[in-house]
Amino acid sequence: MNVEKIMADLEAKHPGESEYLQAVREVLESIEEVYNQHPEFEKAKIVERMVEPERIFTFRVTWIDDKGEVQTNLGYRVQFNSAIGPYKGGLRFHKAVTPSMLKFLGFEQTFKNALTTLPMGGGKGGSDFDPVGKSDAEIMRFCQAFMLELRHNIGPDQDVPAGDVGVGGREIGYLNGMYQKLARRYHTGVLTGKGETWGGSILRPEATGFGALYFVEHVLRTAGKDIKDKKVALSGFGNVAWGAAIKATELGAKVVAISGPDGVCEIADGITKEMIDYMLVMRASNRNKVQDMADKFPKAAKFTAGKKAWSIPCDIALPCAFQNELSEDDAKELKANGCWCCCEVSNMGCQPGAIHYFQNNGVLFAPGKAVNAGGVATSGLEMTQNAAHLSWSAKEVDDKLHWIMENIHEQCVKFGTQADGTIDYVKGANIAGFMKVAQAMLEQGVI
Ligand code: GLU
Repeated sequence: MNVEKIMADLEAKHPGESEYLQAVREVLESIEEVYNQHPEFEKAKIVERMVEPERIFTFRVTWIDDKGEVQTNLGYRVQFNSAIGPYKGGLRFHKAVTPSMLKFLGFEQTFKNALTTLPMGGGKGGSDFDPVGKSDAEIMRFCQAFMLELRHNIGPDQDVPAGDVGVGGREIGYLNGMYQKLARRYHTGVLTGKGETWGGSILRPEATGFGALYFVEHVLRTAGKDIKDKKVALSGFGNVAWGAAIKATELGAKVVAISGPDGVCEIADGITKEMIDYMLVMRASNRNKVQDMADKFPKAAKFTAGKKAWSIPCDIALPCAFQNELSEDDAKELKANGCWCCCEVSNMGCQPGAIHYFQNNGVLFAPGKAVNAGGVATSGLEMTQNAAHLSWSAKEVDDKLHWIMENIHEQCVKFGTQADGTIDYVKGANIAGFMKVAQAMLEQGVI
């Protein structure tokens, strides 16, 4: 494989799609060595096929806002790779959504889903609809209009969307309601992240954050460390940061920062249960302001406008918000302030310069596709429960999530252990995910 040639060809076909090209480059660079030991992959042009999405749908979404004005957004679904199962992956509603962003996310999802050990292909979708400042009724009308189109291309054995940035339990409810009304028969497993009374899995809302902390525990244990009493800085305050804050606190760590687009809240004594509960209120308000936490808890939280979570001294940094949210300069600031571990909980949360800086300066680093896979894994468990028409207890789901995260960690160790005994989690996760998808593609012929 010639990485530069493949990248040049891809760039010519997808000019300027920076996030997509960044995600592909990261994977190709880490699998190159292993790939070249498998002439059968080269012969079947596995990589050239794998980097292209199988299919992309683009559609218009027209809806009416509270003032009675007609609004038009773009909707997308990228069905990236179905070699190991039906397309599976979230929907992102955010004003910055572009085909490039969804292609990068669909590509990452393919490897992440392979790592979970469950039979799920990779997909992603969403819209440039901006939920900030929208009323509940506007969110509902938008979701309904979005589903009017999306329904043609999804189904329990075809493509199973879920939440992502800007899409949580409320949005999945409106999307599912419209889908079932149009279908005129109940397909329980067409979306995941559903409410508990209508086919949702217990623990799905918490699963991304919980799974991430289980993974962090394995990383620390393998390095001879412990999470107890450590200071954790989280970015964001949405669903993922919420689950991470609950589990980090439960495991004895101190969450000292959360952040938003407006700035950071420093919580010197560690986040409390009341504050964690308030994160849900903040998310539901659609205001997208972390300052609301400091306004509500002025003694415990100190807000600084325009600063990131990475400016707060911590032991462990957990990006939980958006791609490329942690730059090389942020990595240097974290390290200078004593940080010794960074695990991405957001998808591609760290810029390449930050990852290299961490890896070259003794900061433990693990990538999102391994760390945050507990979310989609629990979606896979929700699909299983739906297909079997039953629902498992919290303990059953949590035990399975524990096992899955341990297994992902083992795969990273297997494929990422270096000559000096350290573990390159980026390499480990990319090679493990790639080998599974590549083998499945090879065995199913040129299609
Ligand atoms: N959006 C989540 C992810 O990035 C979850 C996807 C799902 O549950 O299908 O993995």
